[in-house]
Amino acid sequence: MAATGETEQKQNLRHQEVGHKSLLQSDALYQYILETSVYPREPESMKELREVTAKHPWNLMTTSADEGQFLNMLLKLINAKNTMEIGVYTGYSLLATALAIPDDGKILAMDINRENYEIGLPIIEKAGVAHKIDFREGPALPVLDQMIEDGKYHGTFDFVFVDADKDNYINYHKRLIDLVKIGGLIGYDNTLWNGSVVAPPDAPMRKYVRYYRDFVLELNKALAADPRIEICMLPVGDGITLCRRVS
Ligand code: SAM
Ligand code: CA
Repeated sequence: MAATGETEQKQNLRHQEVGHKSLLQSDALYQYILETSVYPREPESMKELREVTAKHPWNLMTTSADEGQFLNMLLKLINAKNTMEIGVYTGYSLLATALAIPDDGKILAMDINRENYEIGLPIIEKAGVAHKIDFREGPALPVLDQMIEDGKYHGTFDFVFVDADKDNYINYHKRLIDLVKIGGLIGYDNTLWNGSVVAPPDAPMRKYVRYYRDFVLELNKALAADPRIEICMLPVGDGITLCRRVS
């Protein structure tokens, strides 16, 4: 019994290290999902981008392959055409989106760092989907403000994926609720924040996890109380909250 408990404990500790990939309480089960359903169906270009990203020092930030597959399926299910992504990094979720939307579909993609986007760009170009992407380098908030001021973007987006600075999610939400169409979706990523949303305040946590934790907790409360949206929080990756605009 003691040995089993020890093994479980070890596994849980190890699991915290891959918490950004999945919060499933078993590494073996997560590997099973990847190996049975995700990797065998992953498009070649996404595999190539995933492998290139794995060599990058900030690879912790990338969207996991199972979440990429989920996003790709979701976008097809809702027939998304006009989309937005806040937080691109090397472009794994961007490529999952670009492959899912029709040839004349659009992604307004924003990131403060163009260099990382350029790591993935040749692969995105080779996949024949780069023409769908309008990449803007810089902070996303002023771009959203500009679009709201312009007036012509109200209610025009079918889907928005938010995967950037967690301390701004609430600010993004205030703008996005106006820019997404009624019936459209906003996906806020990392809403379980490495599992830290249920950790006691004095639990050991990496510095960045602790710093953003309160912002994620605030966001989750605000989304649950917002009557303009229906929500669904899924334990995919590090948690994604889907918000469907209803008014
Ligand atoms: N979706 C990406 C993927 O699939 O690989 C991962 C995005 S990564 C978790 C977060 C990104 O947000 C980083 O590339 C970072 O440069 C970007 N970011 C941080 N603050 C930002 C801001 N204010 N506006 C736009 N992007 C920002
Ligand atoms: Ca993420």
